[in-house]
Amino acid sequence: MRVPLTVGDFLDRAVSVYGPRPAVVDEPGTPGSLGTLTYAELEARARGMALALEAMGVGLGERVAIVSPNAARFMISFFGVSGFGRVLVPVNFRLNAEEIQYIIDHSGASVMLVDPEVEDMVAAVTARHRVVLDGDADTELFAPAPPGAHPAPWAADEDSSVSINYTSGTTARPKGVQLTHRNCWLNAATFGWHTTVTDRDVFLHTLPMFHCNGWGMPYAVTAMGCKQVVQRKIDGEEILRRVDHHGVTLMCGAPAVVAAVLDAAGVRRERGEAVPGRDRVRIVVAGAPPPSKTIERVESELGWEFIQIYGLTETSPLLTINRSRQEWDGLSGTERAHLLSMAGVPAVGVRMRVDDEGEVLARANHVFEGYWEQPDETAKALDGGWFHTGDGGYLTDDHYLVISDRKKDVIITGGENVSSIEVEDCLYQHPAVAEVAVIGVPHEKWGETVKALVVPRAGEEVTEAELIEFARQRMAHYKCPTSVELRDSLVRTATGKLQKFKLRSPYWEGRHRLVSGG
Ligand code: AMP
Repeated sequence: MRVPLTVGDFLDRAVSVYGPRPAVVDEPGTPGSLGTLTYAELEARARGMALALEAMGVGLGERVAIVSPNAARFMISFFGVSGFGRVLVPVNFRLNAEEIQYIIDHSGASVMLVDPEVEDMVAAVTARHRVVLDGDADTELFAPAPPGAHPAPWAADEDSSVSINYTSGTTARPKGVQLTHRNCWLNAATFGWHTTVTDRDVFLHTLPMFHCNGWGMPYAVTAMGCKQVVQRKIDGEEILRRVDHHGVTLMCGAPAVVAAVLDAAGVRRERGEAVPGRDRVRIVVAGAPPPSKTIERVESELGWEFIQIYGLTETSPLLTINRSRQEWDGLSGTERAHLLSMAGVPAVGVRMRVDDEGEVLARANHVFEGYWEQPDETAKALDGGWFHTGDGGYLTDDHYLVISDRKKDVIITGGENVSSIEVEDCLYQHPAVAEVAVIGVPHEKWGETVKALVVPRAGEEVTEAELIEFARQRMAHYKCPTSVELRDSLVRTATGKLQKFKLRSPYWEGRHRLVSGG
């Protein structure tokens, strides 16, 4: 028998097995906060959303974009949109209006859901339907469906798209990563298995839901009926407070989340207050490897378990996982932290290899379908039947992957990708710029930060502050250079190419990796 795998399976199971349990605790105090929803209520609202979209004339396969920080309505949309045959387009809410318009147009989204916090920013963005998620304008869209009311049946196809997740990469514009039901289902099951998600877990949403659908963890914890607590903003003390108040056991995030929690825990200790979650919380980290000192502090100062994963939006994302294993039980904290600083071993069903140029390649059932309407880019990424990650690394004798370099021209700052080419394109529009190279340099808080090396036009004067401001007027702020160095020239190869690794290396001296981690 072959039953199509769909993300709707996760909520269907939760509602039938754990209907009366608390499912989602929405952020208190935000406009239209939904408070606490049970799994029965979450399902009724997701079904209600599908009915409302149908009534609006939004057909199966049509795209529904959402521009929002983490919220209960985002959780409802994961299921109300994708679980009933439509395609969710989660958009990074830190992008500016022009960048968001590009994604709406490129994905052909007919509906745009907008959180009140970003409403003003996206005022000029147009879409066929636009709904503000304020508990007023969106009443019909998020009303619970009456019992027994179902939308027209959807002939579920596991190879159809769950979502199109736009990610900045090696092209100036972000590309739309099409993830299928099969991709997301198998990623969630494998991820949940490796991180031992059970019905006793309480999950804190510290990872942005827009980022690769929260790495698929929202699906995995829903399937097990876990209580999920929404966290809108990263605030270390607020995370600790919720860990304590809700009995949180699991969260995911970029290294910056770990840093925020460690800082807040330090402040608590100075005040003589307890740090909650000891021997209970596991924190799953990816985006960049945190330094092994940080990993050690997670164990010693928080008493939380540190788990590292490695992957990309294109791989749903789980490729490798590094979780302390039985053989390491007798090691010191320092030794264990050192081992945990590697990206990890392949997850079940994943094959990893490193090619002759040192690029990390992967094959797995959770590797994406393709880039939305970019067949050439898709063919390049999947050349030879392997997914090309653009990351540089090596495999140890016992099959641990270490990410040591980046082949692609991408900077990862605070867990979000920035395309160097996009930043260069922007700075080239400044009349005083003759040449520019944008690189990632180490940054204590964000792992990497954007730096621009600029050669001014002859006879033109320009300052660092002017160029930074120029970029901030045109791009999402997290993509903008935090420093600019004015230079007389940039070294090029005989064929006129810039060698980014050479430009980067002086800033990374003394580190054994050319990506954050150290
Ligand atoms: P994204 O598609 O935005 O999730 O970004 C994926 C990229 O993040 C990868 O290609 C890597 O460059 C980087 N990355 C993710 N996890 C890790 C990790 N554990 N160690 C090093 N780099 C990572």
